[in-house]
Amino acid sequence: MDATGRRTALVTGGSRGIGRGICLELARRGYRIAVNYARSEGEAAETLALVESLGGQGITVQGDIASAADRERLVDTVITEFGRIDVLVNNAGVAPRQRMDILEATESEFDFVLDTNLKGPYFLTQKVAKLMIQQVEANPSGKRPVIVNIGSISADTVSLNRGEYCISKAGVAMMTKLWAARLAQYGICVYELRPGVIATDMTAQVKAMYDAKIADGLIPIKRWGQPEDIGKAVAAIAEGAFAYSTGETIWIDGGMHIPRL
Ligand code: NAP
Repeated sequence: MDATGRRTALVTGGSRGIGRGICLELARRGYRIAVNYARSEGEAAETLALVESLGGQGITVQGDIASAADRERLVDTVITEFGRIDVLVNNAGVAPRQRMDILEATESEFDFVLDTNLKGPYFLTQKVAKLMIQQVEANPSGKRPVIVNIGSISADTVSLNRGEYCISKAGVAMMTKLWAARLAQYGICVYELRPGVIATDMTAQVKAMYDAKIADGLIPIKRWGQPEDIGKAVAAIAEGAFAYSTGETIWIDGGMHIPRL
């Protein structure tokens, strides 16, 4: 929190899709936002313009979350600009560039997905957590920082043509518990949000398939999820609505995970 009382959020992959939805919901609540992106500079600028149109303040920061040097520069930039990080949202993620049956899928695609979806967020969290601990120790009575990881229903639902993605999200679920257990003593809570089928670029290529499945009853709440559905949950967490929960998974999937006969 700065002298004006504004908290700062770093949202990885904030340029598009779910990340943009998170940035906008936090901006509505007065957060200063660091909008990270890897390649989509124009879309990151659009997100920032939307943040500003809501009366918010922020910056865009390029950085490939899979790169240690970029993660270092990303955090340094946010600290130089805002002096602190109160909310870390590990949202950036990729699907395999080509869906391939696990009998055929390649090691290079496995590395690409795991480096971005799991190794990057794990070590970004390590770096940011150390800063958050310093912030808490400097101001023990202040509002506590939080970390939110964007997982996926794929953490425990098998897709045979994107095994690497499923494994990466199962890893995010464990990463959430690890950091939650490690950081609780500092009052820093860690959560996993587990989206189902959300309307973004990531699902655009399989839209027709999911339109048909949703019409056929795949999701009890019979509609596509929207980025703002995730954004509102992040905002509630950031505001301390779940202060006596940590390591928790919150499904944002319209009830899709409910086993049904
Ligand atoms: P999206 O529309 O494809 O957007 C992905 C975002 O991540 C973009 O801002 C992208 O920026 C950024 N990104 C990708 N690789 C990056 C990297 N190496 N470094 C930094 N940023 C990077 O995807 P989305 O649907 O919003 O997904 C967001 C998160 O939700 C992901 O973790 C995804 O796995 C998860 N999720 C999505 C769904 C769904 O149905 N859409 C469901 C469950 C979980 P650039 O364009 O600059 O690369």
